[in-house]
Amino acid sequence: MDPKTVSHPLAEITRWREELSSLPPALTEDEAIDRITALEELSAACAAAQARETLTFDMRRRNREAEEGMPTSRQGAGIGAEIGLARKVSRARGSALLGFARTLLVDLPCTYAALKSGVISEEKAQVVAREVEWLPRDKRRQVDERMAQRLGEVGTRQLGCEVRALAQQLDQAAAVEHLDKCTEERAVSVRPAPGNMAYLTALLPLPQAVTVYANLSKSAQSMIVTGASGGRNRGQLMADLLVERATGQESADAVPTELHLIMNSESLIDGDDASAWLPGFGPIPAGAARRFIAENDATVFLRRLYTRPSDGQLVAMDSRRREFAGLLRRMIVIRDGVCRTPWCDAPISHIDHALSTAAGGSTTWSNASALCAACNYAKERRGWKHEAAPEKLVVTTPTGHRYEVRTGPLITQMSTGAARSPGQNEPAEDNGPPESNGPPGSVDPQTHGPPPSAVEELFRTRLLDYLAAA
Ligand SMILES: [Zn+2]
Repeated sequence: MDPKTVSHPLAEITRWREELSSLPPALTEDEAIDRITALEELSAACAAAQARETLTFDMRRRNREAEEGMPTSRQGAGIGAEIGLARKVSRARGSALLGFARTLLVDLPCTYAALKSGVISEEKAQVVAREVEWLPRDKRRQVDERMAQRLGEVGTRQLGCEVRALAQQLDQAAAVEHLDKCTEERAVSVRPAPGNMAYLTALLPLPQAVTVYANLSKSAQSMIVTGASGGRNRGQLMADLLVERATGQESADAVPTELHLIMNSESLIDGDDASAWLPGFGPIPAGAARRFIAENDATVFLRRLYTRPSDGQLVAMDSRRREFAGLLRRMIVIRDGVCRTPWCDAPISHIDHALSTAAGGSTTWSNASALCAACNYAKERRGWKHEAAPEKLVVTTPTGHRYEVRTGPLITQMSTGAARSPGQNEPAEDNGPPESNGPPGSVDPQTHGPPPSAVEELFRTRLLDYLAAA
């Protein structure tokens, strides 16, 4: 954020934070517990204040835009993204927090009062807001009033169930309509889990979800009974069956390698320990990646990526076209992994010209950002600006706040384990030859960037053949 004159309340908030962090520890057990409770109540009051400021920002922005004659349908666009950046979370989360603030302050006065006074946590207030979201506004108020005494008495999960039951009771028709709308939101997603695992989540209509589960369970049980389990327990069998049926393979280990696994040549061939990386998902231990590649029955291709030895960044490749396509596009996707906006983490859907082609921006490695659809759209709104370099992206919002995100040291972690410190190795002048950034005397033609024309000749080879020959 730009240094600017801080207003009095802002200076006060900063002072409270500093005082809290330097508070001497409690002298007794009793005092420690009292402090924990007091701090819990303070967090709740902070959440209430944040919700109030969020709604204030929303109203001020909309009022100004109305005064400027902006059509009602366009007023308030992009506010969720600005809230997200201010709270250091994704745009989607920012929009959800904006919706929460509106519901809380406009429709749920009892819940808001309970949060403000520290009776309930922000999580509980969000549960109430979420469960009444589909109700007409007058009914939301009824739920709020009737739940007022229960808010502080029950746990979060129970509170959600009670609010839902009351809401359904108050408006049967809306409840049924809501169920139908939820069905439209069925989807599958994947997110990393500890230990080289990931959660594959399917949000399905309840009967379908139960059917899928029962089907897998029954098949696994029959494999155990007929002695075809191969020593696997029921959970393992169900997981293997899920993969086999979803990918159409005969065994769960034979998943077609339609995924990018980035690995340096030392890790791949020479048993080096630097982790491989699945762009957008995260690291895999080198040994596990080697085993995955070597034991995979499906066709595996090796694609060589050229990196700069000074910092492990993928090298520049440019195009004369107006769209990002081919290998350049793929390299940008691998470089950024997920949407490049700070804290967004959403899957990539567009490769964006940071400086638009209309404004003279080029279709180059330097001027490219991989973005999710929503961030790409938000960026086109008035007052937003993206300034990109291979090493970083700076996002400026309509209030003039600046948020900088550095490109992940993906290849650096893999090749040297040493991340670059900020400020070092400033970006090369746009499209300058990557050679200029290498430390003198350390040029290695194996890993150093070839001239862009040669990149098109990246070789492909059957990795299994390659490993067999090595
Ligand atoms: Zn995004």
